[in-house]
Amino acid sequence: MITRFAPSPTGPLHLGHAYSALLAHDMARASGGQFLLRIEDIDQTRARPAWEAQIYDDLRWLGLTWDGPVWRQSDRMESYYKVIDDLWQRGHLYICTCTRRDIQDALNAPQEGAAFGPDGLIYPGTCKHRRRDINRPPPRDAVLRLEIATLEDITLTFVNNGLQVAFTTDDLHQSVGDFVIGRKDSGTSYHLSVVIDDAAQGITDVVRGADLADATQIHVALQHLLGLPTPTYHHHKLIRDENGKRLAKRDDAKAIAKFRAEGATPADIRQMVGLAP
Ligand code: GLU
Repeated sequence: MITRFAPSPTGPLHLGHAYSALLAHDMARASGGQFLLRIEDIDQTRARPAWEAQIYDDLRWLGLTWDGPVWRQSDRMESYYKVIDDLWQRGHLYICTCTRRDIQDALNAPQEGAAFGPDGLIYPGTCKHRRRDINRPPPRDAVLRLEIATLEDITLTFVNNGLQVAFTTDDLHQSVGDFVIGRKDSGTSYHLSVVIDDAAQGITDVVRGADLADATQIHVALQHLLGLPTPTYHHHKLIRDENGKRLAKRDDAKAIAKFRAEGATPADIRQMVGLAP
């Protein structure tokens, strides 16, 4: 088994991250496999070296060791562009110039009604009729969306928490819409880079919070489109604050660093997330 922990260095690690990292680590070690660490820093406007340094420090303090070199997504842009160019040449992508406001307005048209999917507002497809010159590489600073209607209409499956989940590309169209593959600011999107890297690192089991469970069908569809294997998924419960609210990155109250400063031990952290010390 090969698992990974893939934090974004945009804030302090909190209890939810510790839970993901500990679970992924323990599963790999119990199977005699490998636990890998990947820094997901494609959003260079928010990623900070200091947060990355703090991630290593917190993980070491928790007693976690990782195998092989750490991968950093900002070093891998060429790999993402190669795949984007390929998808573009295959006619799956289109340039979208809509602002959030445009999307909102289109969705507010009387016959539509705004709906949210795991990737935000479900895009109504406004830009899909724009001319595409697939013989020239796509611009790097444009929003590129995947036209789901260009995927063959098939049923895809994956295993989540031991259960088989099935969905069709048509379901994906309805529940997610034409999602973003290439971003204006970061060139690639979370969905594309996570799928490429999980495959490139040979990840067999993805362990992460339940907040990403709905995004998994996006990842499985991309794996199919790119001819990549689908890992087994494990989405764990979210760690919540006293008011039952999901912990956010900006929410320092549950930061590992804060517990450390207050004298907690790694065993305390394990206990707080419901793992045996
Ligand atoms: N980088 C993502 C985050 O920090 C996690 C991605 C994943 O595990 O697929 O929320």
